[in-house]
Amino acid sequence: MLVATTIKEVKEQVRQWKKEGLTIGLVPTMGYLHEGHASLIKRAVLENDRVIVSDFVNPIQFGPKEDLGTYPRDFDADCKLCSDLGTDLIFHPEPSEMYAPDFHSYVGVDTLSTELCGKSRPIHFNGVCTVVSKLFNISEADRAYFGQKDAQQLAIVKRMVRDLNFNIEIVGCPIIRENDGLAKSSRNTYLSKEAREKATILHKALEKGEAMVRSGEKDANKVVSSISNIIESEPLAKIDYVEVVDWNELQKTDVIDGPILTAVAVYIDNVRLIDNFIVE
Ligand code: AMP
Repeated sequence: MLVATTIKEVKEQVRQWKKEGLTIGLVPTMGYLHEGHASLIKRAVLENDRVIVSDFVNPIQFGPKEDLGTYPRDFDADCKLCSDLGTDLIFHPEPSEMYAPDFHSYVGVDTLSTELCGKSRPIHFNGVCTVVSKLFNISEADRAYFGQKDAQQLAIVKRMVRDLNFNIEIVGCPIIRENDGLAKSSRNTYLSKEAREKATILHKALEKGEAMVRSGEKDANKVVSSISNIIESEPLAKIDYVEVVDWNELQKTDVIDGPILTAVAVYIDNVRLIDNFIVE
């Protein structure tokens, strides 16, 4: 596996692969890889001749009061996991490699980016769209793999690719969970032992909500109330949002009559966790 820290190195390798007529899969990550990331990499390895994993904590998607400084990192472990799974190239640039001091160009998707997590993280998705656009251009990938764990991100990236005619297929992959249902996340490492146990409340609440929708409940507000009540029964939990939105525009809906995303963001002992389910 090639370890590249510069854009030039990646582009040289990509040029070679393209010359050989090989397809390329890209898995964008912020590192500290776990089985959620691994599921994306495995799928990319199955579906492409060559796989690039980017491992980059993207500073421009963090707000000023967010966890950029403390975000967990373990590049050696990431390299081992990527190499074991058959990754061909891991791209691990410094922020200065991605953002020159006179960097001024940003990509954003209106409307979808200001809903759900966008309300408390106003610059987040423009940072994501910008870095993802750069990675698409650098890697010239045929396909890129994103987890449903970050469902809003998946919807936004798909819309960006459609709206701006990027020549890439976006592949959404299911949420990988711990045995007790907690969605795997690099940020789970912030949880104390007690908070880690209580964090299962998100999945329990969403399971109940999903069962309601699948058994025909059409009133979105009833689903929201039921999920909120379960989460609020846990004293360590503080809800940021619980919402049912339509799975195209991410707009709040009262009546469930098409594909919906039900998403939650909850602080457990001050650690912000997200989770969701989609009913197509
Ligand atoms: P991150 O490193 O957190 O930016 O995540 C990189 C990619 O991995 C994103 O597309 C995430 O949605 C995906 N991902 C993270 N956690 C999971 C999970 N538990 N299951 C599936 N995909 C995940």
